[in-house]
Amino acid sequence: MVQGTETGAGVIRLAWPDVGPAELAAVADVLESGFLTMGPKVEEFERGLAAACGTPDAVAVASGTAALHLAVLASEIGEGDEVIVPAYTFPSTANAVVLSGATPVLVDVDPVTMNVDPSAVYDAVTERTRAVIAVHLFGRPLDWEALQSAVPPDVALIEDAAGALGARWRGMPCGGLGVMGCLSFHPRKVVTTGEGGAVTVFDPSLSAAVRRLRHHGIDAGSGVDIVRPSTNYRLSDLQCAIGVTQLARLDELLRERRRVAEAYNERLAEIVTTPAADDGDEHGWQAYVVQVERRDDVLAALRAQGIEAQIGTYALHRLSAYREQGRFPCADACFERALALPLHSRLTDVEIDRVAAALDKEVSRH
Ligand SMILES: *Cc1c(COP(=O)(O)O)cnc(C)c1O
Repeated sequence: MVQGTETGAGVIRLAWPDVGPAELAAVADVLESGFLTMGPKVEEFERGLAAACGTPDAVAVASGTAALHLAVLASEIGEGDEVIVPAYTFPSTANAVVLSGATPVLVDVDPVTMNVDPSAVYDAVTERTRAVIAVHLFGRPLDWEALQSAVPPDVALIEDAAGALGARWRGMPCGGLGVMGCLSFHPRKVVTTGEGGAVTVFDPSLSAAVRRLRHHGIDAGSGVDIVRPSTNYRLSDLQCAIGVTQLARLDELLRERRRVAEAYNERLAEIVTTPAADDGDEHGWQAYVVQVERRDDVLAALRAQGIEAQIGTYALHRLSAYREQGRFPCADACFERALALPLHSRLTDVEIDRVAAALDKEVSRH
């Protein structure tokens, strides 16, 4: 049994994947069908994802990280090429670049939005820049227009929309803004398949490349030939069946997360910097992340009270793999201050009150 989150005294979980009888039935159907992978559920999930992001195609893959890796590989970015990435992000944004043999170039972020700073992107462009991997961090749409004007037209804009399925920039779906968009279906994201990801894509030749690269390098047309060896990054029908069911519930899943976010906003507005999207945008609420002084003390105090809070994400230049890239003071500030609060559809008003009261007490104490 899971620990009750309904009572005042139980542990309040950081995340709780919103899966139930519909997902269970979908998995049972696949088990009975005899097609556990490369069957019809993969295609159905891909069509649904493309529709949700407003792209002609989507390719389901093993994880958000696999999606990023394949987006870079399909762009034929490799040795000698530079890819600009934010210094404050989940590490796989940059790892995907390194795994492809190219060089990630870190740039600073905006201290309030925590998204990449377009003027820092502008300053980082060189003759070797092939792409920017732009993150809608925690589901907050980044300023796409500012980013577009920061780079020459031949630099590819790839979205790390791992946490932004359902978010909208000026009415347009995140994951459908760049040449490719990378989604994740990890249990802490809005839509989950346990593990999983997808690349949304406009250009049919790029989509063919992603499909080839997720399946050993085998060309779907030829069936036998491999020009460039690749790996197995496929997503199974079992997982895609969960994904299809989750996608059908996307509006409901988003609404529930928005409910919790708005409830936190009401209670915390006077206490901390609360997260928001730009005017005209819709936040996807992958995570609810505030900024506080003495974050580590606050985090420890919340955890001691059974509230599963977490840091926001990573400052890459503080990891051994990405040191010596320069100074990123805003990424440092985000890393030191960001605090993710519990966010999932089972949270009750009583629990939200409890989190808000605990945070209020800790913030006023310091
Ligand atoms: C979750 C996440 C990833 C990685 O996705 P996985 O499915 O866990 O591999 C990458 N980038 C961002 C911004 C994420 O939030």
